[in-house]
Amino acid sequence: MSEAAIEKPAGTGEREAPVLWLHAVERRYSEAGAPLEILKGAELAVWPGESVALIAPSGTGKSTLLHLAGLLEAPDGGEVYIGGRATSKLSDSERTRIRRIDIGFVYQFHHLLPEFSALENVVLPQMIRGLSKKVARNNASELLGYLGLGERLSHRPSELSGGEQQRVAIARAVANAPRILMADEPTGNLDPKTADHVFSALGQLVRASRLAAVIATHNMELAGRMDRRVTIRDGLVVEL
Ligand code: ADP
Ligand code: MG
Repeated sequence: MSEAAIEKPAGTGEREAPVLWLHAVERRYSEAGAPLEILKGAELAVWPGESVALIAPSGTGKSTLLHLAGLLEAPDGGEVYIGGRATSKLSDSERTRIRRIDIGFVYQFHHLLPEFSALENVVLPQMIRGLSKKVARNNASELLGYLGLGERLSHRPSELSGGEQQRVAIARAVANAPRILMADEPTGNLDPKTADHVFSALGQLVRASRLAAVIATHNMELAGRMDRRVTIRDGLVVEL
């Protein structure tokens, strides 16, 4: 399929382009002996505003897929399109630019900067992008307030609960208003009640913006609240 084809997939009329399209994506790791084939021509299209749960057993390639989609790694074959644009032949600086502007990432462990407050952790990526401190602070406090952390702005990560830390990490990931959010088992470390709270906050945010999201999770109940569910089987993405 040509790149133009995804601008207007057959039969979809005026439909916009997928914000993310993994096309025929291959990824293998060379190990002693046989290479480890993780993705073998995977296809996944995610549309603006759509939330997709990625549910698959450990070791099947969820993190690999998210890293490829987030331009943290490059595929060994196939192509990753972000907003209809092929990314594999772009320079490192162009890929970094797309990653900074269009993509947000949340990990299982929050990776917040320990010396900085919740507010500062959300301000920093915006300042790196070039916003003034004042605008960045306003955005950050609004976003943290929206995620129920209005009373925690000056707390450092060590002074926050696990669920609060993850909500700050979510705020940081969306601070630059990306088009797509990748989350790699974002509630994997939390107790069920806290996971539920964090997931609700995430879902609310996704619905309130036109943000698309791909969220790897083992929690079927939480996955049930997303628009679509997919898994990885024999190196391919399969709808559930
Ligand atoms: P998941 O997130 O679904 O648990 P991963 O994407 O992390 O799975 O890993 C998929 C498989 O690829 C695993 O078997 C893992 O050991 C292997 N793998 C991941 N990264 C590397 C690497 N850098 N080098 C070699 N093997 C890797
Ligand atoms: Mg993983």
